[in-house]
Amino acid sequence: MVVSKHKTFDILSDAVRYCTRCERMHSSQRILSRSVGSLSSPIMFIGEAPGRLGADLSGVPFYGDKSGDNFQALLEHAGIDRTSVFVSNAVLCNPRDEDGRNATPNRQELSNCSGFLSRQIELVDPKIVVTLGASALEALSLIERHEYTLSACVRTTCQWFGRTLIPLYHPGQRAMVHRSFANQRSDYQFVAERLRRLDKGRRKPSGLPSKAASDLAREIIELKPGVSYFALHKLLFLAEVESLKRSGERLSGALFLRQKDGPYCVDLEVTRLRKGIPDLEIINKAGRLHFRVKATSGILFSEATPSSQMPKGRTVVADIVQQYGELDDARLKTRTYLAEPMRRILREEQKSLVNLFNTPINLDVATIERAPT
Ligand code: SF4
Repeated sequence: MVVSKHKTFDILSDAVRYCTRCERMHSSQRILSRSVGSLSSPIMFIGEAPGRLGADLSGVPFYGDKSGDNFQALLEHAGIDRTSVFVSNAVLCNPRDEDGRNATPNRQELSNCSGFLSRQIELVDPKIVVTLGASALEALSLIERHEYTLSACVRTTCQWFGRTLIPLYHPGQRAMVHRSFANQRSDYQFVAERLRRLDKGRRKPSGLPSKAASDLAREIIELKPGVSYFALHKLLFLAEVESLKRSGERLSGALFLRQKDGPYCVDLEVTRLRKGIPDLEIINKAGRLHFRVKATSGILFSEATPSSQMPKGRTVVADIVQQYGELDDARLKTRTYLAEPMRRILREEQKSLVNLFNTPINLDVATIERAPT
């Protein structure tokens, strides 16, 4: 099956090599060869067009020029291995203006090449498509109509043609005016997090990260009735970090973002929380949300229960609630800022002099110092 995929790709590359549909591309290389990366990749990056000093010379998309260097740096920063992804362009030849400089492909050229793009997508069948720049986003609309715009949808997940679409800016220098390099680094971390979640989903098809998160949230609420929305997010974050330290394992697959007031768990957004805990009682005290559950799910712990007999996740949650459950907001926030995953982001912010609000927090065991066993 893999062989036939490669064969089909080679036939497509041959067709591209002899294509003469776009008049101003006659003297450009056709950039579609095995150098585009893995044909089995779950993710496809689509740029605008091969660059004059990059792909048009090297034969490899995003390689050899400043855009290529930036792209490589962004992938590396997010821990995405270039060899395991598929990288192509909306048009496969380098468009130039009258002075011989890189030009933006026009609508007709995007349309001329959209059949080739469509066949690449069909062949690789990626779960995630990342467009780099407005032209790439427009090119997708010629395959399957959508209304997404780059400015409104950057770094969000959109549904397109049965896949997840993530629109990003082009990594070239010109686009840096609209999206700083620091912001783009966060964009690629967002993509990497989506990839990781995809991978986890594959390995654990029965795992429901949001359910795991809401179960843990329920435990926190039962242990500390009346807990605030603010504290709930912070306590769950501290429990995740503590679990990584103790066992090298996450308690849930929940996604945490760095927000202005510290870690925020996307899976605990109020509507989702309500769905996950149907008997959740929400108390609004002066505009701040607090939670109780109407009926407890059973005796979680009793004084007679030896801690060695408690399930691992519950022990961690119980310890965290006992240790930090009574702290006021400011102290609790400080505790989260002292945890290594947050400290890493704060260091990054200091170094690049930007805030990284809404950046996914990397809760990877490799980045956490394990407690001695
Ligand atoms: S850009 Fe695409 S459609 Fe245009 S000449 Fe090159 S391969 Fe053909």
